[in-house]
Amino acid sequence: MKTTLKPDPTAGGHASFIPAAEIGHLLAETQAPDPSMIRDILAKARGKQRLELREAAALIRIQDPEQTAAIFDTARALKQAVYGNRIVLFAPLYVGNDCINDCSYCGFRSSNPAVERATLTPELLTGEVDALLAKGHKRLILVFGEHPRYNPDFIADTVRQVYARRVGNGNIRRVNINAAPMDVAGYRTVKASGIGTYQIFQESYHEATYRSVHPRGPKSDFLWRLYGLDRAMEAGIDDVGIGALMGLYDWRFEVLGLLSHTLHLEERFGVGPHTISFPRIEPAVGTVFADRPPQRVPDADFMKLVAILRLAVPYTGLILTCRESIEMRNAMLEFGVSQIDGGSNIGIGAYAAEAGGDAFVRSQFKLGDQRTLDEVIAELCRAEMIPSFCTSCYRMGRTGQHFMEFAVPGFVKQFCTPNAVLTFLEYLLDYAGPETRQAGFVQIDRELARIPPGAPKDRLISAMEQIRAGERDLCY
Ligand code: SAM
Ligand code: SF4
Repeated sequence: MKTTLKPDPTAGGHASFIPAAEIGHLLAETQAPDPSMIRDILAKARGKQRLELREAAALIRIQDPEQTAAIFDTARALKQAVYGNRIVLFAPLYVGNDCINDCSYCGFRSSNPAVERATLTPELLTGEVDALLAKGHKRLILVFGEHPRYNPDFIADTVRQVYARRVGNGNIRRVNINAAPMDVAGYRTVKASGIGTYQIFQESYHEATYRSVHPRGPKSDFLWRLYGLDRAMEAGIDDVGIGALMGLYDWRFEVLGLLSHTLHLEERFGVGPHTISFPRIEPAVGTVFADRPPQRVPDADFMKLVAILRLAVPYTGLILTCRESIEMRNAMLEFGVSQIDGGSNIGIGAYAAEAGGDAFVRSQFKLGDQRTLDEVIAELCRAEMIPSFCTSCYRMGRTGQHFMEFAVPGFVKQFCTPNAVLTFLEYLLDYAGPETRQAGFVQIDRELARIPPGAPKDRLISAMEQIRAGERDLCY
């Protein structure tokens, strides 16, 4: 079988699907967008329709404070209408940092002598998963460097080991992957292990920038990476995540790059990405480049970027990780972000070490939000949001095309809210500290009060009784 590292010869014939010249023209437009056009675009977004490139570009070009405020207001309303007040929680699990690429911004790059290399052994992996289960996590994303040892079989075996662990009432119910692009056969191997989302960040959609920060290794092939998720789709993985690393090039271009990628996947496979990530470059050990990113994104622009993405792709999950500060994370939950991690530790072997083990601890970069999962949850409750550990869609086969069909009005009320309440109740009963438990029960009561009387509410209340009586993992 081919490894992850050999480009598929069939990929060579593709040209980039990023319309770089068109994006350049749209952004170079100097005339302020016409107010009536902006009103129409915002109305379209409020109607939950995905925006076109020129519409997103018009929002990006807005400078006027009133129009900027209208972007945020509309994003807030849209977020509430599509997602309600649920926030999906997950944790990253770094499996290994061996890497044959030399990405200028990353502490794991091959030329970095300052980083110690480690890969979790099966025993260390077990320790990590058990520590995450003890916190209450149900959804993980496994992160790998790019190296021949992290081939599809290794990744699939790792996923199976994670699913197999059980501690008390807990098991991991969804494993997502952030790893190098593969060939189709490789993706099939990984898919067979039961993964959720396969996530690949393009880092930069601006080809010259991409080439300059990926000088060596398989990642230096822009097109191999750009078509990485096409191959995943061809292999039957219909749930993929895209992303751009903010700070390499102009964020405006990257937002339109992310939207172009979405349009491409929609056109080719009938379904866009399930999630979009937009990490900002953070300081990394031994990595001067990361201390001074070429096009650092200021906080105000970063928030605007998220609000515009929210409007442009209403049904795509937006992920914001603990790389960001508590303040930024809290602010962006309101107008865009739908998934966050909690209690993260990105050293290798770090979760078990936190829990008193003697494993390795080597972080890729510093985290801005170092709260425990329980603290994150308590704060979400105080902000009247409902933390969700739901993994139901994926386990009930509602992914890809199916997921998009269901992501229509009524779906959230029918499936997402009850599943959020049930999985959150499990968390409160099995893992929460006393204060969080109290705040959580108050939040569940608020949520129940919003549901009108009727059969769905009765069904939810009876499922909650089952959970209080000791049953777990009731999927809607
Ligand atoms: N090796 C795989 C890859 O490159 O696709 C996956 C692992 S890599 C550690 C995951 C992501 O971390 C990268 O796609 C990149 O966007 C992000 N990353 C790398 N260095 C970073 C830094 N200094 N600050 C923030 N994010 C960074
Ligand atoms: Fe390796 Fe990924 Fe880091 Fe690049 S970003 S050096 S491929 S781990």
